[in-house]
Amino acid sequence: MPQKPHSGNYKMLGETIPQTSLECYLEPSRAIFSDLLGYKPEQTSLQSLNEEQWKMFCQSIGFNQSSFGIFLPRNQTAVIPLHVKKSELSLFHEYFGHGLYCEQSLQGRRLVSLEKELLEQEKQEFLSRKFTLEDVQKFRRTNLIFKELEELRRKNLGAYELFAVWTEYFLSREFGLRDGFERKYEFLEKENKEVVDSVINFSRQYGDLATFYTQGLARKITTERVKKLLEDIYGLEAVQNSRLILLTGSKKPFSDIDLFASSNYLQSIKNNWLDLVVFNNEDFERRIGLFEIQVTSPIMVGEFVAGNKSYLQQKRNQLQEQPITEQAVQYNLAKAEEQKFLASQFQESSEEGKIGLSYSETYLANALALKEGLRLFTKEELISHSRGEKFIELKGGIIKCNN
Ligand SMILES: [Zn+2]
Repeated sequence: MPQKPHSGNYKMLGETIPQTSLECYLEPSRAIFSDLLGYKPEQTSLQSLNEEQWKMFCQSIGFNQSSFGIFLPRNQTAVIPLHVKKSELSLFHEYFGHGLYCEQSLQGRRLVSLEKELLEQEKQEFLSRKFTLEDVQKFRRTNLIFKELEELRRKNLGAYELFAVWTEYFLSREFGLRDGFERKYEFLEKENKEVVDSVINFSRQYGDLATFYTQGLARKITTERVKKLLEDIYGLEAVQNSRLILLTGSKKPFSDIDLFASSNYLQSIKNNWLDLVVFNNEDFERRIGLFEIQVTSPIMVGEFVAGNKSYLQQKRNQLQEQPITEQAVQYNLAKAEEQKFLASQFQESSEEGKIGLSYSETYLANALALKEGLRLFTKEELISHSRGEKFIELKGGIIKCNN
């Protein structure tokens, strides 16, 4: 009987699996991922085959047996021949690269779910009769799921493959196996080599976390992980010298990481996974004095990432205590007008138009609340208030109550 080699959640398939040289890389690699990203492969299986088994397997699926390994998205299994040199590189590529991508990216999850749907339909079709590879191919030619799958593969193949090569590079580097990696990809076509190099260079400049996130991997956000990310991107000193960095937003795995900073050392950044808004220290103070929602909201509800904690507390107190001036009311009114004007430059139904109007509404609500002497610090509170909903203080929390 095969014994369970480790307590991890992966499965070893088949009865005659040789105890492999891969095992010494498996758990340490899983630990590296847990540490860096906050997760590791959970649904991905590993099947390692000896030469004879590999030959038979390749024949059965019509696959080139001189390959280094294969990943099958439909059952999320990495199949790796053990007789090839440096089979650990295949483990990094197939099991961790393709495996993680299929578990932790939206494109990968889509790929798996389409494959599973297709599998179900093929089962229905071929359950009760004998069939050949040709029969399956013929069935697929007219199958809609298969068409969608082909379309997804066509669009996404570059990203899918590049992610696995990057992962292979990343783990090779962690284990001091970079020579092996470089020899394996020595003969890559110039064009492909440039793409791989650009990812590696990106990782050297911005760090490993940013490199995984840029390629669409889920973001499991903690304040520690965000701090590490910023240190990689901006440098340790820039983060250490910043007065305040706060984490806001939903923290959902496929939403932006929303960050807010008062700093003379960071620059604002916005891409498809990171949104950092930076004000320099002087500007930040000025906006606090004016009760600008863009700074008051993060101060009151943001999570502390880095900087000076007692400064944060000071600013929270200041917002509860500083006088509400006519200047602050006028400032927020003017901002409401400005945003409304900006929104009018776009079509009402466009994303820009909607965002502009939403900002405008929030500024206006803030101006009106301040005029009444009310200090409301989140967009939700402000909008509810301006729409005539009342808040009731209840055991330290606020609940909303419609009139
Ligand atoms: Zn691959």
